[in-house]
Amino acid sequence: MKLHFFGTCSGTQPRAGRHHVSFAVELPNGVYWFDAGENCSYTAHLMGVDLLNVRSIFISHCHMDHVGGLGNLLWNIRKQTWVKKLQPAADNIKVFIPVRETFDGVMMILRNTEGNFETQYTVSPHSVDDSLCYVSEADDITVSAVHNNHLPHDEGTDWKSFSYIIKAEGRRVVYSGDTRLEDIPSILKDETDLFLMETGHHSVSDVCRFITGNSLPVKRLFFIHHGNRVMDDIGQAYDDARANFGGHVAFCDDGTTFEL
Ligand SMILES: [Zn+2]
Repeated sequence: MKLHFFGTCSGTQPRAGRHHVSFAVELPNGVYWFDAGENCSYTAHLMGVDLLNVRSIFISHCHMDHVGGLGNLLWNIRKQTWVKKLQPAADNIKVFIPVRETFDGVMMILRNTEGNFETQYTVSPHSVDDSLCYVSEADDITVSAVHNNHLPHDEGTDWKSFSYIIKAEGRRVVYSGDTRLEDIPSILKDETDLFLMETGHHSVSDVCRFITGNSLPVKRLFFIHHGNRVMDDIGQAYDDARANFGGHVAFCDDGTTFEL
């Protein structure tokens, strides 16, 4: 599988060469999109990722640095159907999103753009809970959601922030979303080929020590959703990671692809 990184920073102030978090898993028959920060579809299109292959979109939580590009992503998919005179690979593009009002708001904006945003395919919202939320008919991929404590939670209400476990082609990829360190053992119980961990709320050293100290089975540790500390001195961040984690570490950059 290919992992394309479209945006790799957290919701900090604008910085040259970095946009808010978004990446996708590309398999032979589809593109599976995770978070949709600003500019994600712009970067994807320039990387050569075919937006008409998007089958599903998974949002970790509805902060702006994770949903700011969702409207433009859906807009650009529809626009590609006009430009290329083709339909998307999926008759129905599923959007897994913890807050329904955010989806409705994005669709309201889109309906007030050209053509009432009418399409010959559908875009459907799906709530997120602690479950296997997606099994692909087209590709060998499943996606499960696991809640985390990034956002406050009242007993008896829906969780609003999730991590995702992606299983495809025999590999296990885990995306932290925004999270707390104490949440991550529950998503790293099984051997994990690639863990995409946010650094917007954590120091690199703390994350590495936590994983190592708790013997969490992580083969590759890639950092995403960078905060200012990482972006101010990426060299120091690499030194901290290598000093505290024995496996393969990397700091994701916008506009890059990793083949797993
Ligand atoms: Zn964030």
